[in-house]
Amino acid sequence: MNKKTIKDVNVTGKRCLVRVDFNVPMQDGVITDENRINGALPTIKYLIENKAKVILCSHMGKPHNIFTEGFSLNKKEKKAVEALPENEQASAKAEYLKKALKDKEKFTLRPVAERLSEKLGQKVVFAEDVVGPSADEAVENIKDGEVALLENTQFEAGEERREEELCKKLASYCDIFVNDAFGTAHRSHATTAAIVEYGFVKTAVCGFLIEKELSVMADALENPVRPFVAILGGAKIADKLKVIDNLLNKCDTLIIGGGMSYTFVAGEGYKVGNSLVDPEQIQYCLDMVKKAKDLGKKLYLPVDVVITKQYPDPIDAVVETEVVDIDKIPDGYEALDIGPKTRELYAQAVKDAKTVIWNGPMGVFENPCFESGTMSVANALAETKATTIIGGGDSAAAVAKLGFADKMTHISTGGGASLELFEGKKLPGIECLNEKD
Ligand code: ADP
Ligand code: MG
Repeated sequence: MNKKTIKDVNVTGKRCLVRVDFNVPMQDGVITDENRINGALPTIKYLIENKAKVILCSHMGKPHNIFTEGFSLNKKEKKAVEALPENEQASAKAEYLKKALKDKEKFTLRPVAERLSEKLGQKVVFAEDVVGPSADEAVENIKDGEVALLENTQFEAGEERREEELCKKLASYCDIFVNDAFGTAHRSHATTAAIVEYGFVKTAVCGFLIEKELSVMADALENPVRPFVAILGGAKIADKLKVIDNLLNKCDTLIIGGGMSYTFVAGEGYKVGNSLVDPEQIQYCLDMVKKAKDLGKKLYLPVDVVITKQYPDPIDAVVETEVVDIDKIPDGYEALDIGPKTRELYAQAVKDAKTVIWNGPMGVFENPCFESGTMSVANALAETKATTIIGGGDSAAAVAKLGFADKMTHISTGGGASLELFEGKKLPGIECLNEKD
């Protein structure tokens, strides 16, 4: 990697504004998965040991920006309100406002500050705002080796809009900008890239998490030990299909499962019932099948599937299922997992791999009725000697839920960011950082 890291600059006594990814899942104020906090610890600890003044910032979820710019409905809410009879619209709007006001409690980073403080064994000062009086005070009083955390950057409307005022103010808090938020490295927001791009902070380096993520994934993509197998699945069809074009150039074998596979199946002329399909992408899928053939790459698609009439609700409800061949999905049924023949086929296809990247579950793994496909792929990876790299939030959750997390070489903290790397794109949060001398 040709970008400077915190080891390439003198941090002692310097105010370091560190963009981390503390976007942890939270239920009723309790953090349910601490992976992202743990991921940032090596950088934070290094800065403490080297007597930097550590000022952390992060986004968390997607709250309304009601606190900085007043209340307005978002697009989805607006549509929902407009669909109502006129005499019900005002009260529906009031309900959304009530919900938005609660966002302040729901999306505050305070619980993260408390948990981080326990993990570090030292106080973490929590600022009640991002650039307001509380943040001013925290920054003013911070001493060498101390840590402060600013409030959720998403509370500032200027974060996503890359507002100069916000960047300028944040830049006034620091001597060095450190980006260690791999999960948002593909975003071009105020605290992920703009603050540096505008030239407000001159010294901008990455932390250890970004350094590690890049070295593992860029290495796998640029110099893979072959055979190199890529496995794609999941439900974010539009995002995932885009990746195939670039991956086909790099990998030897491409395996496709999960919700994204049925657009291919539809392209082959089979009925897919109610399964997920993106009709606009059918031609693209056909092009990709041809590309794989022209390049002599192996492309695997499901040959059988687990179907149901009733999408499970709640997600883990037991439902009736059947296994059918891929050309026999009846009308009114939905395919929610790969079938046993496909599992065997995919397990064989990864058996001799030396490098595997996997993004997206093979089925609705949240439900025991549809977890077997994802389970068998995870198992097959665990049994290979390959370097195994997992990208994607749900894929990471699946691997953890099914008990394979410690069998994988690397589980990325950035779903979208890793996907954009696979797609061959440059990440703004990394591009903006200082080059090595
Ligand atoms: P990741 O977060 O790993 O990038 P995605 O967000 O794209 O993955 O997709 C994960 C979701 O895809 C899971 O919630 C899973 O239930 C869903 N999924 C997988 N296969 C199917 C399918 N055949 N039909 C509908 N949803 C699916
Ligand atoms: Mg996901």
